[in-house]
This record gives sequence, structure tokens and C-alpha cells, in this order.
Amino acid sequence: MTNTHRSGPDRRTILRGAALASGAAVLGGAFAAGGAASASAGVAEPPLHTRADWGARSPAGRIQILSTPPSYIVVHHTATANSTDYSLGHAYALSRAIQNYHMDSNGWLDTGQQLTISRGGHIMEGRDRSFAAIRGGSHAVGAHVANNNSTCVGIENEGLYMDVGPTKALTDALVATLAWLCGAYRLDPHRAILGHRDFNATACPGDVLYAQLPGLRDAVAEAMLAPVLELAARRAPAGDGPTYPAVPEDEPDRVFHHGPARGPDDFTR
Ligand SMILES: [Zn+2]
Repeated sequence: MTNTHRSGPDRRTILRGAALASGAAVLGGAFAAGGAASASAGVAEPPLHTRADWGARSPAGRIQILSTPPSYIVVHHTATANSTDYSLGHAYALSRAIQNYHMDSNGWLDTGQQLTISRGGHIMEGRDRSFAAIRGGSHAVGAHVANNNSTCVGIENEGLYMDVGPTKALTDALVATLAWLCGAYRLDPHRAILGHRDFNATACPGDVLYAQLPGLRDAVAEAMLAPVLELAARRAPAGDGPTYPAVPEDEPDRVFHHGPARGPDDFTR
């Protein structure tokens, strides 16, 4: 009796220790991709173009960095023409045009979104400090999804996707970018990847691209398949979730305009 009683706690202690060791191994695995690359949890960083590459202006004020990583990745379209110029030069010009519009017409500190992808599939840094923040697991607060900028990182995809879908080059770059972000922020692609219209009253990212999101989530999950990525180590979304408002029928048709980007809950511009 005494022996049985004594063996109980011993056995439970052993099991508890094993469970802790197992849990630690899972967490360790998520970060164990090696050195600085560990922040992206084993998902390769796609080819990226910096702000220096496209000739960005300095921001009008210091960009806020939150140590809390974003919970959602928001897919946008730029509401610009579906250009057939797939060159790097065109991509850089697009980034400059967006920045000029956001700073000079909207009065923001800088480009609103953290990342921009051209129809040629070129991936560019948007708001200042975005790449460093992603690599460090933190969040450069942008202006792209009203009232949710503290918890959302945004990708603007060149074009207007109400009636047609993006190019294959853009789609492939978008999947690679989403996988990189989900890895860096330890997000579950099936829960974290949303469209602008899920949060604000807007048609963005267009009916066609929005309808492609389920397939994109699957493609991202596939791209992330690696032994170091344990589902148990992924973060559940935190903070305000989407509100799924109705798409307005009378949305203004203006180049660069793709719905509400700032609201009273946003503390920066
Ligand atoms: Zn949008």
C-alpha cells in the first residue's frame, strides 16, 4: 500500500516531466531553424526589394514598432491598372507612386502597407522598418485596414481584381510572401490570412482575388510544410478579429483607393 502510494506520485512526476520536455521540444522546434533564420521558423525568405532599391522617400515621422506580432495578414489590391509591364522598373515606380499618394494625398507618415507585390511578382518593402520588424518578429504599424492596424500586417497587390485574377507571377510571389509571414509570426495560414473586406466596408481585394483566398491559404500551408513547423506552436489570433461588413455598392472608384485604411482606433498614420 505504502509502496503503491509512493509509486503514484513518482510516476506522475515522470509523466509530467516527459510532457514538459515534449512541449519544450515542440516550441524549440519552431525556433530551431538555425540562427537568425530561426525567426522565420524554417520558411525561406522570398527575394525582396528594399526601400533603397525603389528609391523611397524618408518617412515624415518615426514608424511605430510594436513588440507584439500581428495576428492577421491582410490581402489588398492597389486599385491601379492591371498593367502588362512586369519589369522591375515598373514595380519600383509603382512603389514610389503609392508612397507619394499616401504621404501627399492622405497625409500619412509613409506608405501605408508593409509590403507591395507587382504584377511581375516583385516583392517590395512598403512602410519603413517593415522588413526588420518581420525578421525580428515585431510589427511596424501601418495604415491599410481601418481600426485594425495594430494587429494586421498588409500586402498591397498591384491591380484591380473585381473581374479578373492576378498574374501567375504575382500569385506565386504572394504565396511565398504569405508563407514567409506566417513562419516569421508563427501564424496558422487558415486563420490568419484575410482580405481587407473582412475588416472594413470595401470591395478590396476584389471579388476574384477574395474568392481565391481559400486556395491561397491551402497553397501557403503546403509551402510551409516542414518538420519544424508544429501546429501546436502556432499562435491563435489575438486582439480584435474581423467584422465582415457588407461590401458597399457605391465604393468610390479612384486609383489607389481600396477602402478604409485608418480609423479612430488607429493611433498612428
Ligand atoms: Zn485594401
